Order: sequence, then C-alpha cells, then structure tokens
Amino acid sequence: MGRCNTAIHPSGVVMSDAPIRSDGSLSASGRALLHARLVQEQGALHELVSDAGGRTGTVDLDPGREGRVSRVDALQHQQMAKAGRRRAEARLERVEAALERLLDDPEMFGWCPDCGEPIPWRRLDAVPESVLCVPCLQRRQSRR
Ligand SMILES: [Zn+2]
Repeated sequence: MGRCNTAIHPSGVVMSDAPIRSDGSLSASGRALLHARLVQEQGALHELVSDAGGRTGTVDLDPGREGRVSRVDALQHQQMAKAGRRRAEARLERVEAALERLLDDPEMFGWCPDCGEPIPWRRLDAVPESVLCVPCLQRRQSRR
C-alpha cells in the first residue's frame, strides 16, 4: 500500500489512513467510511421505498377513453414498481442490520463469521452491508 496518507474517497469522506490494517481487518477510517456509505444508502433506500409507495397505489381500472392498451401498460408498470420496491425494502433491511452490527460491535464488523477471515476491502467497498466473504456466501448458497 504505497498510497498517499490522506486520500479522498469518491463518497467524499476524507480518509486519514488506509481503510484496512496490515492484517486485512478494518481500520477506524475504514469503518467510518463504511458507516457513512451505509447511512447514505439507508437514506436513498428510504426515499425509494416511500416514493414507490405512491406509485404502486391501485391502478384505476376504468376502461374509459384510455382503452385496454394503457390499462395493460399501467398494470405492467405497477408490477415493475412493486418488484423494485420489494428489492429496495430487502436491501434497506440488510443496510440497517449492517449499521446495527457496526454500532453494536465495531471490532467484529468486516469479519466473516463463517471462516473467521476479514472480508476483503474490495467487497466491503462494493457492498458495505456484506455479512460474509464471497466464498462463504457461495458455499451457503450451494448448500440450499
Ligand atoms: Zn468467509
């Protein structure tokens, strides 16, 4: 890690040192960065979930002048909005659980509970709410 000591992450958080320590575990600034990312994500998802709520209201099935085609369109749109909302809700749940873990037990955050190894920074940076490292996640999924 021959990088400059003070780096500005794309999210705008100023980092005073590397996000991970030499043993691969998260440093304080790594945790601060992930916390900021999770809070940002939580806010955006909240907005998405409540915004979609308005649009997924019952479609007016009045077969009046709009005709049948637009009714199909409206239903399709409603289905898509519902699916998007479900995804956002599921992710919001994971993000909030991650925030809880981060606050409750910051030292354990970023460690994979299955193999006991630190989750690689690249994965945490891409998906801050990750619970498992990729190999363990795949192992769990293939067991199902
Ligand atoms: Zn693992």
